[in-house]
Amino acid sequence: MKLNLPSPIQTVTFENRAFYLKRDDLIHPDFSGNKARKFYYFLKRDFPQIKRIVSYGSAQSNAMYSLSVLAKMRGWDFDYYVSHLPPLLRDDPHGNYKAAIENGMRLHIGKPPESYGSETLFIAEGGAQVEAEEGIRLLAEEIVAWQKMQRIEKLSLFLPSGTGTTALYLQKSFCLLGSMNRVYTVACVKGSDDLRWQFSLLEADEALYPQVLEPLKRYRFGTPYRELYVLRQKLKMQTGVAFDLLYDPIGWQTLLAHIDSFDAPILYLHQGGLKGNESMARRYVGNGELGMRNRVW
Ligand SMILES: *Cc1c(COP(=O)(O)O)cnc(C)c1O
Repeated sequence: MKLNLPSPIQTVTFENRAFYLKRDDLIHPDFSGNKARKFYYFLKRDFPQIKRIVSYGSAQSNAMYSLSVLAKMRGWDFDYYVSHLPPLLRDDPHGNYKAAIENGMRLHIGKPPESYGSETLFIAEGGAQVEAEEGIRLLAEEIVAWQKMQRIEKLSLFLPSGTGTTALYLQKSFCLLGSMNRVYTVACVKGSDDLRWQFSLLEADEALYPQVLEPLKRYRFGTPYRELYVLRQKLKMQTGVAFDLLYDPIGWQTLLAHIDSFDAPILYLHQGGLKGNESMARRYVGNGELGMRNRVW
């Protein structure tokens, strides 16, 4: 698999402000975004004993799809455990789920087994594990090298978080590289305290943590909200770039709300996830949000 690395960086204007945009969504058509960074280690290293991947999480997850691509590439089996399969997906497979099944994923409903043999690689939900650091350090190195060429001494990095793995290892990598860059993020799945707790599972030194910004309001993850959809369309129109529907609208909304508090130019990290938009767009249609019926969640 040929990865488009380093991923390009462009300038975009949104709401009359200039931003750098790191296009990790363009790393590869089937293996992109922060999942490509987090699973880089498993793509590049030798695993002579491994015959299969086991993981778990939601049946629409970007991580599930990326793991199905990784397993197919490496000739491994892929067993994925979900607590339930939404009827909408079961009856009419689409998005990440459909693509993962087509890649040979075996779906199981229930808890993953407690132990495995040495032929199995177990991957935590969302790829929240220490092996993710390797690919994210490469991301930090790409940014630092680009900055040198552009003579930009310091950047404010912004990215929305799920497990926080990407934001954490990005800040840690900048620190270890001697860079002054600061990483800012927002919790999209749970609250800010939960996010900091997730950091602590991967890294003990709080000096290496990203700064967690508060969102304008708490959104229920994966739920359609009219204003988030509208923001995503605005981004598309003004920047020409398609963003994901789950994380990026909350990310940009938070970024704009704090826009005057940054002390260095802002680089937004595009973390991919566009295949997941298919499921999310259907939820918007189902809830009447695309028809703009005035419903509030
Ligand atoms: C997985 C994912 C995230 C969350 O990444 P974490 O490292 O878990 O914080 C954000 N955006 C997109 C598009 C993703 O696929």
